[in-house]
Amino acid sequence: MIELPIVEGKSERRRKPDWLRVKLPIGPEYKKVRKLVDEYKLHTICQSGNCPNMGECWGAGTATFMILGNTCTRSCSFCAVKTGRPPEYDEDEPRRVAEAIQLMGVKHAVITSVNRDELKDRGAEIWYQTVRSVKELAPQVTIETLIPDVKANWEALTRMISGGQEVVSHNMETVEALYRKVRPQAKYQRSLDQIKITKEFGKRTKSGIMVGLGETAEQVYKVMDDLVAHGCDVLTIGQYLQPTKMHLAVDEFVHPDVFAEYKEVGLSKGFAFVESSPLVRSSYHAERHL
Ligand code: SF4
Repeated sequence: MIELPIVEGKSERRRKPDWLRVKLPIGPEYKKVRKLVDEYKLHTICQSGNCPNMGECWGAGTATFMILGNTCTRSCSFCAVKTGRPPEYDEDEPRRVAEAIQLMGVKHAVITSVNRDELKDRGAEIWYQTVRSVKELAPQVTIETLIPDVKANWEALTRMISGGQEVVSHNMETVEALYRKVRPQAKYQRSLDQIKITKEFGKRTKSGIMVGLGETAEQVYKVMDDLVAHGCDVLTIGQYLQPTKMHLAVDEFVHPDVFAEYKEVGLSKGFAFVESSPLVRSSYHAERHL
């Protein structure tokens, strides 16, 4: 276990609580994943998002690949992924992702992407080709795709989720009242609609939120109600951590007991599965709900 660094708050410096301590990233499986990522010239949200679970996930031989490059067209105030105008996308990426997933030897693979709002199809074709490539090379692997906001381009959405993936996730990220602050280029109702259409397409649906951004419990319960009403099956809830001083400050380190309460409430509201604890991320222990 390592001591995590001091975090800059809005007006004070404070130490992360004990429950946010994480394992050191070491061990042979960790090295194997790192080698695969480097050799295949792939991006992972684990690295780009400064995920605190890298020691555990990579140490267990798994990672979440991020496709369509590593430059996002959006600038959400919570997210560590680089923002800007991305270069042309890489048509060979689907093959390399599929080979890396096969070599990792995982039963369940999670793939995500940056937002590519400048592309007419929002990157749907590369999404489709990536899922197909994994299914062809490693048909035994179940696939979860954590997809971006398609800005109501439902044709693009349909292509994006047609490759044969078992689970389609789209994160709400926060409560409605904090959208302008946390996710300014997104719209709360539009994300709910995307989940509803995904469900109607016949997919297992999943979403996630971060807490500790200044939301109230009532607002969290409202997101839960909205998600259930729009056909969301699985919910993840984790603590927001400030990636750098340039990002939104943590408002509160939510106590593990509150996460346990959120889990109970979520299940009572109708989710088939809720993963809720401080270090939960949408791809953390993702195979469990299958
Ligand atoms: S929780 Fe997800 S993003 Fe974080 S290290 Fe694990 S697989 Fe990567």
